Amino acid sequence: MKVIRAESAGFCRGVERAINIVRDYLRRGRVPVFTDGPLIHNRQMMAALKAEGVREVGDYCSRSELDLGLSPEERKNAVVVVRAHGVTPERREYLKTLGAEFRDATCPDVGVIAGRVRLFARKGFATLVFGDPNHPEVIGILGYAEGRGHAVRTAADLAALPPLGEKVCLVSQSTMFVDEFEVLAAEVKRRYPEAQIFNTICGATRARQHDVVRLAEQGAEAVVVIGGRHSANTVKLATLVERHGLPCYHVEMLRELDLAQMRRYRVVGVTAGASTPGFLIDEVCAALEKLDA
Ligand code: SF4
Repeated sequence: MKVIRAESAGFCRGVERAINIVRDYLRRGRVPVFTDGPLIHNRQMMAALKAEGVREVGDYCSRSELDLGLSPEERKNAVVVVRAHGVTPERREYLKTLGAEFRDATCPDVGVIAGRVRLFARKGFATLVFGDPNHPEVIGILGYAEGRGHAVRTAADLAALPPLGEKVCLVSQSTMFVDEFEVLAAEVKRRYPEAQIFNTICGATRARQHDVVRLAEQGAEAVVVIGGRHSANTVKLATLVERHGLPCYHVEMLRELDLAQMRRYRVVGVTAGASTPGFLIDEVCAALEKLDA
């Protein structure tokens, strides 16, 4: 079988950077390394990091107290890391008070979104974030909106908002669909003609979405999407494949893929979410390549 692996499959630069930061501490014997919520949305990678000394604590969005379970002496060797999705400014300040070293691994692209929101909020703008209100990235970004932020996904969400005045700023969660952002942006512009619109979907997400189109153009008869079922960007990739009319097989790892079923295809595309480690992609590609055409 011919297998076409999307160039963008696997870790994005934000996830890779966060993992490198954590592993660098581990290499230097700085244990435990605590992360406020899962470092990335991939169970297999989280299991590997746990074995290396990473401990997931907290739920990154609430004001709940974190119990690191360490003596003041042990805390001096521990580290608390903010993951790539980022956190609210309040949560960041709280994490700094825990007595362990604090390290911010927020993705620079998310940092740019947060900075822009803060800038406009301070100028008196209300903030709209195109995204999932329960996603940690959106929760973190809204923390910079000075209490005047709303997560929106549809025109109906916009219609349900309280009066915002004329000064409105729209940004996007970094992993949304580009075309859906443009539809919502047009509706925001219609309702708020003076709105400041910033398409903040990150480059890694755009590349990943573009590569799905490329797989279809290159003759893929079906696409295997590898990544966590709780990973927003992976689920979006699977949706995009289906939108292009291709059979989609969303699996977290090789053993979930029915290889006998895959034999019916001659050419199969493979892509993966931003938090899918390379070894999971490698094993799927290798197994598919061994199948008879
Ligand atoms: Fe950063 Fe984009 Fe990766 Fe999110 S998906 S961590 S914004 S590079």
